[in-house]
Amino acid sequence: MGFFNKIKDMFKNSTSSNEIVSEGENQEVSKVEEEVKIYEKGLTKSREGFVSKLANLTNKYRTINDDYFDELEEILIMADIGVNTVMEFIDRLRDRVVKEKIDDPNVLKEIIVDELFIIYVNDEVLVNKINFSDDGPTVVLFVGVNGVGKTTTIGKLANKLKSEGKKVLLVGADTFRAGAVAQLEEWSRRIDVSFYGKEEGSDPASVVFDGCTKAKEEDFDVVLVDTAGRLQNKVNLMKELEKINKVIGQIIEGGPHETLLVIDATTGQNGISQAKAFKEITNITGIVLTKLDGTAKGGIVLAIKDDAGLPVKYIGLGEGKDDLQVFDIEKYIYGLFKDMI
Ligand code: GDP
Ligand code: GDP
Ligand code: MG
Repeated sequence: MGFFNKIKDMFKNSTSSNEIVSEGENQEVSKVEEEVKIYEKGLTKSREGFVSKLANLTNKYRTINDDYFDELEEILIMADIGVNTVMEFIDRLRDRVVKEKIDDPNVLKEIIVDELFIIYVNDEVLVNKINFSDDGPTVVLFVGVNGVGKTTTIGKLANKLKSEGKKVLLVGADTFRAGAVAQLEEWSRRIDVSFYGKEEGSDPASVVFDGCTKAKEEDFDVVLVDTAGRLQNKVNLMKELEKINKVIGQIIEGGPHETLLVIDATTGQNGISQAKAFKEITNITGIVLTKLDGTAKGGIVLAIKDDAGLPVKYIGLGEGKDDLQVFDIEKYIYGLFKDMI
């Protein structure tokens, strides 16, 4: 059974409330339902943007021909899926059309969804969760250029981790940008977790040193470190991150356990370039893709995986403290294509 049918069944079941299920199961079902709704809502713009164009394409053509493929290619490129990814994707579709003798756009529509899923998943086992340390604090370093949503994401993630019962410390090592430390401190107050920071202009590595020391001494479970991402000065940024990494590792064995690159989905292909640039500078373990609620081109999720080889671990679907989701490709695809399914 193709992926298209699998998610169709999966979410059809999750929304039928008449079934007899045990209470525990019921809670599971309503949690999935709730998360699916968050995806649906957050992806409204993308659905009304490129996915509705895909649906129209299916209605417009009675049979599949070269014009159909040209239009499809354009729609996908406009959705920020990335030129190379789209080219390979179209080639694979053409192959399948010939081999499986498909000429009905309605049949191809399902295959398109299947193949989009394959782009992302490839043959890998997807690991979306944070790699938590077995003993001692887990350190998560956040990097990314100014304005992408690092500080906001840290606030949201801290909120999520706190609700899971974890003792969380926020460390303000973006000492470069005016107001950045205060902004993080404000988040710590809002969601009631601890904070460590020094005055603006302090050496970020020294802030991290003291923050990690505090985390170790006071038995924190998770340390979320905010940094300044001055990509304009690559050499300095690289040195700064090297120093920060070294300091973390000295104090907390195995740290940082994750380095998450934050990317703003509304910047499209520019975001992909940032991912490539940061990969050269430091060891990135995953992506947080923010502002997916603010773009009609949600295809960047697929491009980032295919073009930059980095998994999306979290997505931001709004500015509030609850608007961060662990990335789930199935819910994402459902959120996008639910009207076509
Ligand atoms: P930083 O410079 O990388 O730390 O970015 P900030 O955390 O200060 O965020 C920059 C702006 O983006 C703020 O106005 C945030 O509220 C906004 N923002 C962050 N994440 C999201 C998101 O997922 N959706 C939307 N709509 N706005 C976001
Ligand atoms: P270096 O700066 O390249 O010599 O690297 P180090 O590993 O010696 O230090 C990295 C950063 O951590 C420095 O900028 C220091 O500010 C900070 N640091 C190192 N040791 C200590 C310490 O014992 N106490 C404090 N507060 N900070 C330290
Ligand atoms: Mg910030």
